[in-house]
Amino acid sequence: MSNDTFDQLKISTPLRNAIDELGFVTPTPIQKESYSVILSGQDMVGIAQTGTGKTFAYVIPILQQLSYSEQTNPKVLILVPTRELVLQVVQEINKLLTYITIRAIGVYGGANINNQRMACAQGADIVVGTPGRLYDLVISRSLSLKAVKQVVIDEVDVMLDLGFELQLERIFEHLPSQRQHVMFSATMTDEVDYLIEDYFKSPVKIAIKLSGTPLENISQESYFVSNFYTKINLLVHLLSDAEEFSKVLVFVSTKKRADVLFEQLDEELNGACALIHGNKTQNYRLRSIQQFEDGRSRILLATDVIARGLDLDKISHVINFDTPNFPENYMHRIGRTGRAEQKGKSILFFTEKEEFDKADIEELMNYEIPELDFPDEVKENSQLLDEERPNQRAKRNRIMHTEVLNAAFHEKSEKNQKTNQGGSYAKIIAAKYKKPKRRGDKIQNMNSKKKK
Ligand code: ADP
Ligand code: MG
Repeated sequence: MSNDTFDQLKISTPLRNAIDELGFVTPTPIQKESYSVILSGQDMVGIAQTGTGKTFAYVIPILQQLSYSEQTNPKVLILVPTRELVLQVVQEINKLLTYITIRAIGVYGGANINNQRMACAQGADIVVGTPGRLYDLVISRSLSLKAVKQVVIDEVDVMLDLGFELQLERIFEHLPSQRQHVMFSATMTDEVDYLIEDYFKSPVKIAIKLSGTPLENISQESYFVSNFYTKINLLVHLLSDAEEFSKVLVFVSTKKRADVLFEQLDEELNGACALIHGNKTQNYRLRSIQQFEDGRSRILLATDVIARGLDLDKISHVINFDTPNFPENYMHRIGRTGRAEQKGKSILFFTEKEEFDKADIEELMNYEIPELDFPDEVKENSQLLDEERPNQRAKRNRIMHTEVLNAAFHEKSEKNQKTNQGGSYAKIIAAKYKKPKRRGDKIQNMNSKKKK
């Protein structure tokens, strides 16, 4: 039906030809719905599941509207939370520039600022950036934002989260007051929703699916595992099936755990593993992704630094080695597979302590993740990490997006800590699971659930 193709959007020929050459025939629902709203100049916020084409949902109407000018100052600003996403969004834009003379550049931390200064000096129509580096360029007068008419905030819920919010505010001070805000994410929390209402001019809200709706093309399973080292045994067991587990992204909760796991896995799997987290240099981070993408590493171990937005090619499995503290992060993590309607598989490991986090996730999705029997052939390991020992209060990381935030900040801010969502949520979950599903002291779990 021609009604379902890009025809209905009346896209200019040069842009349309580039879209056709990518082999895209039908706009995804979010692309279809956002197009006219973005062209109308109204503020908007779009919620659509992971991998449903949100990037082109803003890039296509922006390019449609943007005509080339000799003006060196950018007219469009696109803000994203991580360096890798800057590169990806610039790449996506460039795919559509075959027949249009528009210049897009990316700016992000961890890379030479002088090169980015030079790029800014040469002029650009679109600047994609992480807030920290962008602000540095603005205050050092390497980049002027006075001509910006449109601001896109991708992954808006994390971008308006505490630490980032401050950075955005500082950037906003350098923008003309007449401007359009376009925001996207796959997840939204109530607080961010309120913040958006306060901040932006009654944005048009486009929600393709309720925030937290899991993709049907991603199958989900879980294993109850007793501790960290037993998780390693189970992971090694699963990964030994190289044919089934052909391209696997493994998420770990902290950089430290990622390092320990990497050391162990590297030995067991003879180098089939790459690693990425916020303490690695930018070159190291890019190299790890490259190795994973070109197949040299079958497994990529990661923290939440790459949980958002990255469009990696055909990931067979996402394994949550640790259960994320915040349910939205689970949605983003598993959303690295099953992109553009492909099939994907997700496996979650959870310990007794992580059961409440799992319940939070299930609450958000309104879906109970099926649990598989722990395989007989996998050995239990009774060795415990310090943080797992009884009487030693686990220093659990309750910062929602630490990794993502750190990735874009030069300095870590103490303000990055999420302070609400405390006991009331635990009560809802407690009411849901009236009695402990497993052995163990639920009260203790409830206390450990308290966020900061
Ligand atoms: P999201 O931001 O919603 O997670 P992305 O914008 O990263 O999703 O897009 C996911 C994938 O879908 C990308 O590989 C992209 O090239 C592809 N894609 C985007 N739009 C279309 C379309 N209209 N038809 C087919 N594939 C598309
Ligand atoms: Mg995206």
